[in-house]
Amino acid sequence: MSTQPSLAELQELERRYAVPTYVRNPVQFVRGEGVRLWDADGNEYLDFLAGISVLNVGHCHPRVVEAVREQAGRLTHATNLYYTAPAMQLSQRLSDSSLGGKVFLCNSGAEANEAAIKLARRARPGGKIIVLEDAFHGRTYGALSATPQESKQAPFAPLVPGFEVVAKDPADLDAVVDEDTAAVLLEPIQGETGIHPLAAELLSAARAACDRTGALLIFDEIQTGMGRTGTLWAYQQTNVVPDALTSAKALGGGLPIGALVTNGALADVFRPGDHGSTFAGGPLVTSAALVALDICSDPDLLTRVQSLGERLAAALTELPLVSNVRGRGLMVGCDLVPGVSAPELVQRALVEQRLVLNATGPSTIRFEPPLIVQETEIDMAVARVGELMR
Ligand SMILES: *Cc1c(COP(=O)(O)O)cnc(C)c1O
Repeated sequence: MSTQPSLAELQELERRYAVPTYVRNPVQFVRGEGVRLWDADGNEYLDFLAGISVLNVGHCHPRVVEAVREQAGRLTHATNLYYTAPAMQLSQRLSDSSLGGKVFLCNSGAEANEAAIKLARRARPGGKIIVLEDAFHGRTYGALSATPQESKQAPFAPLVPGFEVVAKDPADLDAVVDEDTAAVLLEPIQGETGIHPLAAELLSAARAACDRTGALLIFDEIQTGMGRTGTLWAYQQTNVVPDALTSAKALGGGLPIGALVTNGALADVFRPGDHGSTFAGGPLVTSAALVALDICSDPDLLTRVQSLGERLAAALTELPLVSNVRGRGLMVGCDLVPGVSAPELVQRALVEQRLVLNATGPSTIRFEPPLIVQETEIDMAVARVGELMR
């Protein structure tokens, strides 16, 4: 600890050497355990962001740490030119836990969506990809082209052609899907743009339109998956089953990994040589993911996520400056009354209350604690927010 560089030193290094793509908060975290984080001065924080829904199992879960330690000392990389057990075992577990087809492993959420987009185009060459207003699917070119946000897209034009944006309206969606549509890609709950669950009628319309035309229905479950909403995958609480889904974020228990999971019908659309990645499915990250998937599949944990989510949402609704609370399970968004800045409240929560939160926009706060959070910790977090609102 004594050799830790100071925050000021890190800020100077950032200023001189780090490409300025991030706006960082003035805190240096050095340790995490469960729902707690510690900064370099030894202050303890309650983490209700979980690394943007990455630490669903909590920071440094002992079983994840043990699996990584063990694997790191044996074999970290072999490439997909050879077999390693964790990659194949993880593929089996992902398939069995969801759509029953096959799995392409990769290294991030954006990459998982790239694989999904390529799968759709392979299945229907030249076909359009339909995405929804307010979607977020990642920052690489294909994923960015599927992310209809002017500020993110405009500076990087021209984008990948063949993407079409539609309003979140069942009739509009039905009208735009035709025989030249390769896929409809959507998040069952839009995360980055403010925790907006999609209406059941919209999901049914998407399913019906895809069935009518043979387009693929692909769910981006990168944020909603891995137990976040109280089922392992969010689609399991909706009225539809997608043809393929993407996962990342919490899949690696804190390590970077992504996955595309198909149903049986799409299992062999990709052929040898169609897609690949040097690091993908490496034994280190997949052995961590096997543990994370096991923990997040626990039925008792998932039931708890639902009741904990209800407790959190109910308590937030009681706060004075809150105008709307929405979400499912421990994926909760909270709108503030007009005139109150979410980014400012989040900043004060961090500095004054040692509570880690995130603003998804000027007036929305996102709560996504580790799924292992306790009732008392939820009450504590809400009390800290309440303190700031007084
Ligand atoms: C975070 C996220 C992504 C992008 O994942 P990265 O790992 O940052 O590339 C894509 N889709 C959704 C819904 C996400 O929440």
